[in-house]
Amino acid sequence: ESKAHGRGRHKFFAPSMDEPIRAREAAERDLRAAIEAGDQLSVAYQPQYSAITGEIVGAEALVRWQHPERGQMPPAAFIPIAEETGLIEPLGEWVMAEACKAAKDWPIQTISINVSPVQLRNPHFGYRAIGIISDAGIDPARVELEITETALIDSATQFAVNLRLLRAFGIRIALDDFGTGYSSFSHLREFEVDRVKIDRTFVDKISVDAGGSALIRAIIDLARSTGLQTTAEGVETDEQKSFLQDIGCNELQGFFMAYPMPASEIGKLLEGKSSPGRDDAAESPKRT
Ligand code: C2E
Ligand code: MG
Ligand code: MG
Ligand code: MG
Repeated sequence: ESKAHGRGRHKFFAPSMDEPIRAREAAERDLRAAIEAGDQLSVAYQPQYSAITGEIVGAEALVRWQHPERGQMPPAAFIPIAEETGLIEPLGEWVMAEACKAAKDWPIQTISINVSPVQLRNPHFGYRAIGIISDAGIDPARVELEITETALIDSATQFAVNLRLLRAFGIRIALDDFGTGYSSFSHLREFEVDRVKIDRTFVDKISVDAGGSALIRAIIDLARSTGLQTTAEGVETDEQKSFLQDIGCNELQGFFMAYPMPASEIGKLLEGKSSPGRDDAAESPKRT
């Protein structure tokens, strides 16, 4: 009887206790295999537009993982696991190499690459990044590394050596998801950041209420007076686009203009062979 009871108890408790751990272990194992094999991973590129000329002036590299059984995995589902396990280092370096090689011959100024705070905390990151960029043969002044605002604020001193080295090599730094991390503009001067990417949550508030529009206008005015470039992320409507153009935002990125797309598609787009957002290979909003 006690045996049956024990088994019942095990059945009752075990799934809720072990399953998240097992799922995580499986995800880690699968991600490790994906990084080693390489063929499940790809990089999607989302165009960045000049607010003045409407031309594509840059592209953001966004990692994609096609899991053999589970299909397309969103970065939000596996980047945290990659960060916890250290796999973000080989993964991030793979993305950087891919993106630099792909963008080398594209007629755009900038290739933007997301960098995790875990990568930046490694004192060797700066040298490794310079090595990757040199090997790709792209002008370092065309490479912009995106670091989230919260990461920079929390770990500025840990990142300082890497950031100084990268900047000395000519690489640019953008603060991603700006507005979510409570930094002051005096902070930004101190960190020697080149650009702020205004978080989508602020762009969403344009025209919802007058306060939302006033806030984003103030952010852009302050950034400009500090000598920073501005990019608005998550532009989804014509109204948002016009407003951002009117208030002097430098660059625009979002589904209204173009979804992230494979290298071959943005390559074609840059040759003027197809129009933005209409390619079959480009991602639909649901998939991102
Ligand atoms: P992020 O760097 O802020 O990238 C922008 C995200 O917003 C992308 O999602 C992009 O597809 C999405 N997006 C772009 N325009 C719009 C829009 O108009 N509306 C909406 N709703 N979304 C838009 P994605 O590709 O799922 O990436 C999510 C996050 O994962 C990224 O946010 C970044 O933090 C991280 N990530 C992606 N690739 C990498 C990578 O290679 N390395 C690292 N460390 N992180 C990455
Ligand atoms: Mg980014
Ligand atoms: Mg962002
Ligand atoms: Mg974001």
